[in-house]
Amino acid sequence: MTLAFSQLSGDLESIAKQGLYRSRRVINSPQGIYLKVDGRTVLNFCSNDYLGLANHPDVLSAFKNAVDQYGVGSGSAHLICGHSLAHHALEEELAEFTGRDRALLFSTGYMANLGVMSALLGRGDAVFEDRLNHASLLDGGLMSGAVFKRYRHGDVEHLNSHLKKASGHKLIVTDGVFSMDGDFAPLPALSKVAQDHNAGLMVDDAHGLGILGAKGGGLLDYYGLKQADVPILMGTLGKGFGTFGAFVAGSEDLIEILIQKARTYIYTTALPAAVAEATRASLKLVITEDWRRDKLKALTERFSVGARQLGLQLMNSTSPIQPIVIGENQQVIEISQALLQAGFLVSAIRPPTVPQGSARLRVTFSALHEEAHVDSLLDALDKAGAGLR
Ligand SMILES: *Cc1c(COP(=O)(O)O)cnc(C)c1O
Repeated sequence: MTLAFSQLSGDLESIAKQGLYRSRRVINSPQGIYLKVDGRTVLNFCSNDYLGLANHPDVLSAFKNAVDQYGVGSGSAHLICGHSLAHHALEEELAEFTGRDRALLFSTGYMANLGVMSALLGRGDAVFEDRLNHASLLDGGLMSGAVFKRYRHGDVEHLNSHLKKASGHKLIVTDGVFSMDGDFAPLPALSKVAQDHNAGLMVDDAHGLGILGAKGGGLLDYYGLKQADVPILMGTLGKGFGTFGAFVAGSEDLIEILIQKARTYIYTTALPAAVAEATRASLKLVITEDWRRDKLKALTERFSVGARQLGLQLMNSTSPIQPIVIGENQQVIEISQALLQAGFLVSAIRPPTVPQGSARLRVTFSALHEEAHVDSLLDALDKAGAGLR
């Protein structure tokens, strides 16, 4: 008789052989452009704290004050006794920020995506997803029990051909700004095709909210799309907002149905109220401090011009997510390690997070970076051989 799960060490070996072994780095500092890693200070180019709010003094003091007011734990799920005044106020502010009837907080973005799709879809329905969607959207679609179709990245014609053959309730689901490529979903065309087929449209704008649009309203704002064009908007609070959690915004009926039916809303503990208060402070900064968006844009442009001069293989991205395609898993790890040696933290992204053969360095910028940081990164990328293939 063999021991249950005795194959695990073999599985680990095989993961390592493919260059897919993942391990954690232990960080001993707040998030910021400098991180302390293993006792060493390195320049950080892999955080999603795009606006530099994760350690902002206003956000910190809102959090601390709220701990005095509410304590730490929220005690239960929202539907029992965990829904505080802080959560409620943040939901109202997020609804106003996104120009929607209502917003509903979830404890994480992963749970929000699972919750929406399993509440709205079931057997006999169909869900259509961009093949580069975030894992939580793909998992949500699979979990929902609906017929699951992937369309080629950004390919509205391909989507259209799937829609023609579908029956039941239809839901189109896409990242707004794609998390690993940094490009934008063609939302105006998706909205039109959704209307043509009487399908719902859900956009996960984890990487656009706060960063794009005049006041940080995200990719929908950038395109001038409203609730009628994109009925379901999901956003995360752990990226541009610098805190934690997520929300879904849309019509009164959508939000009420989620409260009644979304299992990842109902059966989980509410976020700490202090996190909601911290997010209210960060939302104020997101709305008022345009310079953060302007700075990100300028840094991104500087990088993209410099990188092209060095022959680095960039993707079609104008967002602060600037991937450099390397290809092979082992090679991307070596370059990332050489960068770390030189004092630059840049993440190596491998399958299954991205398609086979498209392993990449994922460079992200923060509004707190300076031009000199971008220039020194370019120099380090060149020296680490990121352009030679
Ligand atoms: C990060 C991310 C999520 C998950 O959000 P969490 O709050 O971290 O669980 C969902 N969708 C996209 C596109 C993301 O980038």
